[in-house]
Amino acid sequence: MQTHIIGFPSIGKQRELKQSLESFWKGNLSTESLFETCIELKKRHWCIQKEAGLDYVTTGDFSLYDRMLDMTCMLGAVPPRFTPCRGDSPIDMYFSLARGDVKRNIAALEMTKWFDTNYHYLVSEIDANGPWLTDKHPVIEDTRLAKKLGFSPKPALIGPFTWITLAKAQSGALKWSRLNAIITVYAEVLAALALLCDSIQIEEPVLCTELLPDEAIKRFHDAYAALNAACDDKLMLTTYFGPLSRNLDLAAASGCASLHVDLVRGKGQLEAVLAAIPDGMALSLGVVDGRNIWKTVYSKAVPIIERAVSALGKERVLLGSSCSLLHCPVDVEEETALPEHIKNHMAFAVQKCAELSALREIAEQGNSIALEENTAALQAAAAHPDSHIEAVRKRASSVTSSMLSRQSAYSEQHTAQTWLNLPPLPTTTIGSFPQTPDIRKTRLAYRRGNMSETDYLAAIKREIKDCIDKQEKLGLDVLVHGEAERNDMVEYFGQQLGGFCFTQNGWVQSYGSRCVKPPVIYGDVYRKNPMTVDWIVYAQSLTQKPVKGMLTGPVTILCWSFVRDDMERSEVCKQIALAIRDEVQDLEKAGIRIIQIDEAALREGMPLTAAEAEIYLQWAVDAFRLASSGVEDSTQIHTHMCYSEFNAILPWIAKMDADVISIESSRSGMELLDAFTEFHYQGEVGPGVYDIHSPRIPTVEEMTELLRRALRHIPKEQLWVNPDCGLKTRRWDEAYPALKNMVAAALRVRETLNK
Ligand code: GLN
Ligand code: ZN
Repeated sequence: MQTHIIGFPSIGKQRELKQSLESFWKGNLSTESLFETCIELKKRHWCIQKEAGLDYVTTGDFSLYDRMLDMTCMLGAVPPRFTPCRGDSPIDMYFSLARGDVKRNIAALEMTKWFDTNYHYLVSEIDANGPWLTDKHPVIEDTRLAKKLGFSPKPALIGPFTWITLAKAQSGALKWSRLNAIITVYAEVLAALALLCDSIQIEEPVLCTELLPDEAIKRFHDAYAALNAACDDKLMLTTYFGPLSRNLDLAAASGCASLHVDLVRGKGQLEAVLAAIPDGMALSLGVVDGRNIWKTVYSKAVPIIERAVSALGKERVLLGSSCSLLHCPVDVEEETALPEHIKNHMAFAVQKCAELSALREIAEQGNSIALEENTAALQAAAAHPDSHIEAVRKRASSVTSSMLSRQSAYSEQHTAQTWLNLPPLPTTTIGSFPQTPDIRKTRLAYRRGNMSETDYLAAIKREIKDCIDKQEKLGLDVLVHGEAERNDMVEYFGQQLGGFCFTQNGWVQSYGSRCVKPPVIYGDVYRKNPMTVDWIVYAQSLTQKPVKGMLTGPVTILCWSFVRDDMERSEVCKQIALAIRDEVQDLEKAGIRIIQIDEAALREGMPLTAAEAEIYLQWAVDAFRLASSGVEDSTQIHTHMCYSEFNAILPWIAKMDADVISIESSRSGMELLDAFTEFHYQGEVGPGVYDIHSPRIPTVEEMTELLRRALRHIPKEQLWVNPDCGLKTRRWDEAYPALKNMVAAALRVRETLNK
């Protein structure tokens, strides 16, 4: 049995790539030095794979910024607006595509989430006007280098069907009309690679979705025939993030030498795959989770491997990671502060490579020591008291359906809230206000122990007071405390909840040089103490206007954390929901009668097929309802979601039963409100009237126009006025005038309402 991984994280265990990129962009590092860092990192990662005993080292998984962008450059699909950059050096052009060209005022490619992960890729644009200038893909050079250094490389490319599906174009027809031209470019690259290796990974995660149009499905076989021919039949058709489901036959008939399947996200698909796979096609089993930080449960993986071996023979079986290890941190050995029982349960990218070799040994040679060690470590983790807290379990299992509903029907609830006495088109914000350097310094000093608790509390209170004063002056109707105490909307809650811990170095690339360090849910989750009440109550004490309490929802906390894998995600989510429910009720008791529960991640947590998405949405919406429904009718629940593609899930959003929802919409010019017209959403809606991602200060006129447009879709009784998202990344000299204009626009439109 051969072993391999789908990819290794590029960023480096000390985030070396991030540092080099950022100094390069500042002009403090030469192109040569940047490339030296990259080569060092690649070599280091190949060594890790080889030393772990893997048969292949993967090349082409490393990217300076983003692998989808690498493909876009290989295909030369540079949008026409970048024409002025054509004379630039390739690396300048590359970063202009990734980050925009500020001097020439050319916008970067759009960025969006990579399937259902928290990684963001750059969306390519297919334009009607060719011809494209194709560029060399770094994978050829890298593979040559790996080979020269004595490694056995397996180059990796994102496949043409995935690339085209994810590209933007005026029409689907235009996109697929490019297929033959694109296949020609791929064929050339594959032919060059075939001289250097005996297996080439071609990644088509799109096969695990329902996104491929019939036209593409019809042309899949011929396209792959051309690709297989170009590289002497060395392709490993690589799928991940879910089961192949309805595309299984398509993949099995691709004619590729081998097929990689994800047996973590596509847990139940092995028998179907074994039944469909033709003679002569090898099967790579993705048994080591590329998206989590926990040790593989060998006792579960081994029977799967044995089953495949008994069906196909070991020559036809490979062992791999479920997907690229891009989605997990680099090395658990960098962690020096984690409790032993947690660290012992963990495997990051480096450890996952070793796991693959261990699994092979167990399956081939019956190495029982490795199996026993693994089982013992997992049992020790499971036996730790934090893993199973009886009171938490009991409470979660006794949740009743009445706990998922508000006391009355929406209309009664709505009437019960008129006491709030809000004007038509009430103005508010999404929660955070600018995080000034002073605020950051305060939090850092406190965290490092350089500031006393008393001084810290006083400093944050000063910020809250300042924020309330400014909002009063702006004339906003529903105020917020500004979130000065929060570094991050999930971390803040994770730090106070039981069952969470934090790594020191568990960084994962989010996009480009940006990394995140997700909290880790390792045990049963419960609330120790109120988490936000004091801050919000203090804010409310400073004003006659209502102050909106601000919480992060259970689904978002779940999606932006690494989650224990010995329990269903829905169960973990329920535990978090109960903790948030307690917080909501405490806020209400303390006199806070408008409470916002942000669910920024609800959409992205959705699995890739309709059937699985349905199951997810059911428990995710229930979790929100559990968190939010424990209040009086007269208390108003808000939620916030900052993305725009939710037309399809609008019925589910309605089921969340929030009184008010704020959404992103300014960038699409209120287009997404069409869906609200059709659906008859019963709650109130605050479509963001300006884009907080940009420093630009929107004018009164343009926001007035957006509100008028919104009124064509949303009755005036249901419309709120707010920005797209929180303002923490903006400066006060941007946020203040923008909000001033926003309030002016609301007043202007309000005046015309009665006419
Ligand atoms: N309340 C959060 C804020 O204002 C919401 C952020 C988000 O949706 N990403 O920052
Ligand atoms: Zn948002």
